[in-house]
Amino acid sequence: MDIAQKLREEGYKVTPQRIAIYNVLYAENNHPTAEMIYQSLREDHPSMSLATVYKTMEIFERIGLVRVLDLGDDCSRYDWDTRNHPHVRCTMCNRINDLHDVQVNCLREEVARHSEYEITRLHVSFEGICPECLRKSSH
Ligand SMILES: [Zn+2]
Ligand SMILES: [Zn+2]
Repeated sequence: MDIAQKLREEGYKVTPQRIAIYNVLYAENNHPTAEMIYQSLREDHPSMSLATVYKTMEIFERIGLVRVLDLGDDCSRYDWDTRNHPHVRCTMCNRINDLHDVQVNCLREEVARHSEYEITRLHVSFEGICPECLRKSSH
């Protein structure tokens, strides 16, 4: 996605900080918190504050560039991939994995049928213990 163009289209200024924030989100692909993004950028962008990261994420969310995830770990996590996909979060190390191969559309249809709602947003998430933490805890 050309985020500079998207920002311009929506009437927002294209700043090096905004571009850098999006690039970290996309490149690291780990559903980071604002704090994690801030830490990654601190060295190259010493003048950037955590508040800037939060504010930028609000803008990105408003124009549909990111999706905010609330996966039950007390802080928002951000996803550049705005398509519907389920997530699983490790309750020990807090990593989050995408579950692109898990089909949730049938769940959506079932919810629509039972509730008679028109479903506009679907968010499925699971919690568990990731393979790495399982390995560590078995030693
Ligand atoms: Zn883990
Ligand atoms: Zn995701």
